Amino acid sequence: MAFAITQTCCADASCVSVCPVNCIHPTPDEPDFGHTDMLYVDPETCIDCGACADACPVDAIFPAGALTGPLRAYEDINAEYYAGRDVLASVAPNFHQWAPPSFTRILPSDFTPLDVAVVGSGPAGMYAVEDLLLHTNSRVTLIDRLPVPGGLIRYGVAPDHPSTKKIGETFARFRDHPRLRLRLGVHAGPELAGRHDAVIYAVGATEARRLGVPGEDLPGSLPAATVVGWYNGHPDVAAVDLSAERVVVVGAGNVALDIARILTADPDSLAGTSIAPAVLERLRSCKVREVVVLARHGPETAAYTRPELLALAARGGLVVDAHDSRIAAAVDAATAGEKAALLRGVPREAIDWSAPPPDGTRRVVLRFHSAPIAFRGDTEVRGVVVSGPVGDVEIAAGRVVRAAGFRGAPVPGLPFDEDTGTVPNVAGRVAPGTYVAGWIKRGPAGGIGANKTCARETVGTLLEDAVAGRLPLRRKGKRLLGRA
Ligand SMILES: Cc1cc2nc3c(=O)[nH]c(=O)nc-3n(C[C@H](O)[C@H](O)[C@H](O)COP(=O)(O)OP(=O)(O)OC[C@H]3O[C@@H](n4cnc5c(N)ncnc54)[C@H](O)[C@@H]3O)c2cc1C
Ligand code: SF4
Ligand code: SF4
Repeated sequence: MAFAITQTCCADASCVSVCPVNCIHPTPDEPDFGHTDMLYVDPETCIDCGACADACPVDAIFPAGALTGPLRAYEDINAEYYAGRDVLASVAPNFHQWAPPSFTRILPSDFTPLDVAVVGSGPAGMYAVEDLLLHTNSRVTLIDRLPVPGGLIRYGVAPDHPSTKKIGETFARFRDHPRLRLRLGVHAGPELAGRHDAVIYAVGATEARRLGVPGEDLPGSLPAATVVGWYNGHPDVAAVDLSAERVVVVGAGNVALDIARILTADPDSLAGTSIAPAVLERLRSCKVREVVVLARHGPETAAYTRPELLALAARGGLVVDAHDSRIAAAVDAATAGEKAALLRGVPREAIDWSAPPPDGTRRVVLRFHSAPIAFRGDTEVRGVVVSGPVGDVEIAAGRVVRAAGFRGAPVPGLPFDEDTGTVPNVAGRVAPGTYVAGWIKRGPAGGIGANKTCARETVGTLLEDAVAGRLPLRRKGKRLLGRA
């Protein structure tokens, strides 16, 4: 009986290197890796040794025979990745072979230790810290503007995903490292450049992407970061008013599904998670009976990942608005493994949007092919107008959450690309001595694990500059006496 990877996989590839038979894919050097929701075990090759389960930081790997409930589907999901593809020939020439060794982290043995500042203690910052501490003799100053480290692991990942949050424990072990100095509650600025050999900015990207529709700034229209920050106890976020019976979430990515799931959850199911007690109390008394998730495209190309939709569908209380015949056609035509196939058992309903949501239940409605045209309301938002196949429709709603994506904010002293909301860089280098990693480097896409290869690339670039003598402070011969 093989092992199988399940829902919480964050694609950090920690399991890949411990598998003795190289049967976990895609690996970081394979083309699928940058786009995959998760990694998969090849059941034909797995020898059942369990090494991957021990290495996984988020408890995502189990013997396939031990999977129960909604996780049982992952036995087939793992196998489907390998079915019918000649992976050996076309996907990865090195499939089931060991890659050549790489020694990119070796500095000359007489190299004076680098003094590096890392700004941001989210995944990208922590993967950079890990690489610097484990593979070089650098001293690292880790700075975060918040009093609690972790970035979006602490303040973004939903509280009902405790296994995913567990990766924070993997990072926490570096806080006691003798070559790390942790500075929390410090808003870092351009002054760092004069104090360290190199600075890596891993400051994330959590500004709301604007929709550009009339009324989006009405009171009661909230950016996703506000709702997510609220239920995670973010110190900058005040309580969210949940007196509306219907909430519309614009966007259908995983963050939209997180919000829909939490707002419609049975509060008892959240007790015992990391959710703040005050938030739990407010959820108990909240009036929300329906969350409508608006997806711009059809179910075949929805932005959410398969594991997140699978979990929501398995929980129950999920409905698809049957307003457009293309939806049923896509679901019925989908083959196993395609996103739309996940909606096969989900009830479809023709919904009267002028009526209030049904009594006595909390549910999530997925409405595909629905881009918002305008937010309606005078002093407060009271509805969203969406385009439909037979004309525009107004969905009455007392709250709207804008979850149509994030963007980075300018970092003082660094160049900024307004179109992408990122800091322009080449392999993480903004200029010798100044680097970026994570969402501020490549844009707000990819789960926690995607930041590992991203941060490793940045650290590699930094070390290249160090060895080539390009770091400005060292060039000037100013060895550091003090640090930030
Ligand atoms: C709501 C939400 C839920 C998510 N859930 C999941 C999930 O379940 N699984 C998954 O795999 N991925 C998830 N992701 C994606 C994942 O969180 C990101 O891939 C990851 O957090 C990006 O890492 P980062 O280090 O670039 O940014 P962040 O995690 O945002 O970290 C940036 C850090 O920089 C700090 N900072 C910013 N500016 C300064 C400054 N000037 N001085 C000092 N410190 C500063 C911030 O306080 C923060 O701690 C989620 C993302 C969001 C938005
Ligand atoms: S159980 Fe062993 S052989 Fe199977 S995927 Fe995990 S590490 Fe590889
Ligand atoms: S989270 Fe990492 S270690 Fe765990 S299954 Fe996914 S890729 Fe493997």
